[in-house]
Amino acid sequence: MENSTIAAISTPFGQGGIGIVRVSGPDAFQVAEAVFRPFGGKSAEEMEGYTAALGRVFDEQGDLDDCILTVFRAPRSYTGENVAELSCHGGSYNLQRVLRLCLEKGAAPAQPGEFTRRAFLNGKLDLTQAEAVMDVIAAQSDAALRGALSMRDGALTKAIQALCGELLEQASHLAAWADYPEEEIEEVETQALSVALSTTQKKIDRLLASFDKGKILREGISAVLAGKPNVGKSTLMNLLAGARRSIVTAIPGTTRDVVEETVRVGKVILRLADTAGLRSTNDPVEAVGVELARDRLEESGLILAVFDSSVPLEQEDLLLLEQCRSRPAVAVVNKSDLPSKLELEKVREAIPLTVMVSAATGTGAAALEQAIERAVGIAGLDAAAPMLFSERQRSCISKAREQLEQATEALAFGMTLDAISVCLDCALDSLLVLTGQKATEQVVEQVFARFCVGK
Ligand code: GDP
Repeated sequence: MENSTIAAISTPFGQGGIGIVRVSGPDAFQVAEAVFRPFGGKSAEEMEGYTAALGRVFDEQGDLDDCILTVFRAPRSYTGENVAELSCHGGSYNLQRVLRLCLEKGAAPAQPGEFTRRAFLNGKLDLTQAEAVMDVIAAQSDAALRGALSMRDGALTKAIQALCGELLEQASHLAAWADYPEEEIEEVETQALSVALSTTQKKIDRLLASFDKGKILREGISAVLAGKPNVGKSTLMNLLAGARRSIVTAIPGTTRDVVEETVRVGKVILRLADTAGLRSTNDPVEAVGVELARDRLEESGLILAVFDSSVPLEQEDLLLLEQCRSRPAVAVVNKSDLPSKLELEKVREAIPLTVMVSAATGTGAAALEQAIERAVGIAGLDAAAPMLFSERQRSCISKAREQLEQATEALAFGMTLDAISVCLDCALDSLLVLTGQKATEQVVEQVFARFCVGK
């Protein structure tokens, strides 16, 4: 238990109607009592946990603001310590004044993430759950939020604990054998151990594979709208963005810059670029745009290749189809409201995920959404399943996997039991660093560096 009492504004700065100053630590209620006067009833120190009182925040000059004090008694609070929350009127000046008063009455300013750090140190949550708190705050889509909440509730923790359990069981078998050094390990036992290790390894592989999907849910994916001029890229961009951003005109070649927009399409956040049409041009300004479009095409995580269904495929369309082969791509065959003249089979052959849409009327938008989810590999993804959400988590799991691989090799080469045991212990250690049970001060520091003050 930390023994200082800390305080910070826990709501965002600005003009919100309500703002909260949170005080946590052994003297939280003394601090609250020194700044808050209830209209009646018990004082802060006498109040029971999970109760609230209406009153005023006051200083030497008199009353400052109306306030509701909520009391949480250790260990049943966010941090596991005594917590007093002063809900006042929002507005940064008012809240700063209330905070300053708490600091004058003995609280220390909380560092970024210090409330959550204390929750971790007091065993209220493990390191993966603490990390998920920031992901809940940062979530920008329903799926990202559901995933973060599930990790916050311990979905990953449970999966890691199960892996630890398996490793411990295998390690204890080894220890048992090691106690009888005169007996050779039975062939059948070696095999059973090898099978058990490979089962654990497969589970680890599944978790590792979840990292990329989690990253897509969390950060979205960079996507590009490609296609020759006038196929309807800007119109499609407007449809997806729900706002008229890019200029839509009937004269080919008007989108000269790369226009970027973050749009939410189903479960996916797309950082979507509408680019200059891909075509040869003599106009130097447009040429720069075409160059940018090509670069963007190379580096993007998803290509939305747009075609005009009302005209037959042209040379530029065929070129684009070639560029999309074996890349994550969706073919958007636009203007489905017009009579079709396009050779759809050729498009499908190069880009299996082909959808017909009318960007102008919005027809086919749902099919496009599904195709995008499939293209980036998250169709049918259960966002609540255990998932690696940070680079730190991925690196811990990778280390555990390497150690398991070494253990399997050591077993295959008939190395000593000690060598195998050491590998298993190291794998276990990596998993315990992941959950925070064995994390160094430095690792904990690194996790909470991402946090904001007041969380
Ligand atoms: P871009 O050059 O690829 O960005 O194409 P635009 O979005 O500027 O569209 C070019 C022209 O096609 C405009 O006149 C649009 O109104 C028209 N257009 C775009 N989408 C559709 C569609 O789904 N149906 C029809 N009939 N016209 C469309």
